[in-house]
Amino acid sequence: MEAEKKAISLLSKLRNELQTDKPIVPLVEKFVDTDVWNQYLEYQQSLLNEGDGKPRWFHSPWLFVECYMYRRIHEAIIQSPPINDFDVFKESKEQNFFESQESIIALCTHLQELVRTIDDLDENQLKNEFFKFLQISLWGNKCDLSLSGGESSSQKMSIINSLEDLKPFILVNDFEHLWSLLSSCKRTREKASVRVDIILDNAGFELVTDLVLADFLLSSKLATEVHFYGKTIPWFVSDTTVHDFNWLVRQVKHCNHKWMSRCGADWERYIEMGRWVYHDHVFWTLPHEYSAMSQVAPDLYAELQKAHLILFKGDLNYRKLTGDRKWEFTIPFHQALNGFHPAPLCSIRTLKAEIQVGLQPGQGEQLSATDPHWLTTGKYGVFQFDGPL
Ligand SMILES: [Mg+2]
Repeated sequence: MEAEKKAISLLSKLRNELQTDKPIVPLVEKFVDTDVWNQYLEYQQSLLNEGDGKPRWFHSPWLFVECYMYRRIHEAIIQSPPINDFDVFKESKEQNFFESQESIIALCTHLQELVRTIDDLDENQLKNEFFKFLQISLWGNKCDLSLSGGESSSQKMSIINSLEDLKPFILVNDFEHLWSLLSSCKRTREKASVRVDIILDNAGFELVTDLVLADFLLSSKLATEVHFYGKTIPWFVSDTTVHDFNWLVRQVKHCNHKWMSRCGADWERYIEMGRWVYHDHVFWTLPHEYSAMSQVAPDLYAELQKAHLILFKGDLNYRKLTGDRKWEFTIPFHQALNGFHPAPLCSIRTLKAEIQVGLQPGQGEQLSATDPHWLTTGKYGVFQFDGPL
């Protein structure tokens, strides 16, 4: 109870600093990333020469301040042993999973029925199924607790039946590039490994859509191994940690539904066999944009270079890929990546932040005219690819 009281008082101090636009202060508690964070804060400070020269909540770049807020929430917890490994968002993440049960059953059933006949599918049918699983993973990204302010964001409708109706909301669709990349890997690398890396976003329903996609990639032999990357600490409310990942696979396996538990058993086997690999890296919860990864986290950059394709899920990844700049809508994705290119990559993202690049001339203006909130509601999505075309 003493620890809880301490954490709550640290959190209310944080809330007060935020609400009254106080200067951003260095982190105090020693943790693996504390020095890197404080160096980044100094760097932000060096960019300012107005006022008192201190970064503040209302004035500093949003990407930095938003990441800093989640890091400070974590600091309040690690400063309060013995609850220093408590996940403040655990309950809402688990609730999202349980409230999405029917949708999850529908997805698992679809996957298991498909897997049974997958070797009989011709090239075109396989391509259609691949596109279907990608769209499921895209729209799974709508379920975001940082967007809904922690309110329920579960998936209650079956997503598979809505895919056709949702197609007009895909603003950039580079699906053909993904298909030709993986299908040519499959043809030319008969015995070698083909690796797809997925940089995860949210736990709960979205994570199920990502695992279903990853299962399809193995079952269809479009890939031979899939690597996942999650967050080291609780992040942006619903983001996946290693605990969420393992918890979800266990839940799916122990479910009372035949096809769902079959999925869970398959997934556990993939992990045991090393065909699914989960990676932790502190870089994902730093404030840096991805063009800085090769300097800040060269080991992680080198790991990503081993992939044939990297899928970046969600909005925060998109903001970090593009540096969260105020880009023109028509700037090419490749240019916004600012030299970040460990391997061919694709952003799979529903739009929740005011940034979008790589649109056709006039497309952004037309959207603004018909739907003023198109950038932030999660209603629209993209498959945006950068790689050899
Ligand atoms: Mg998220």
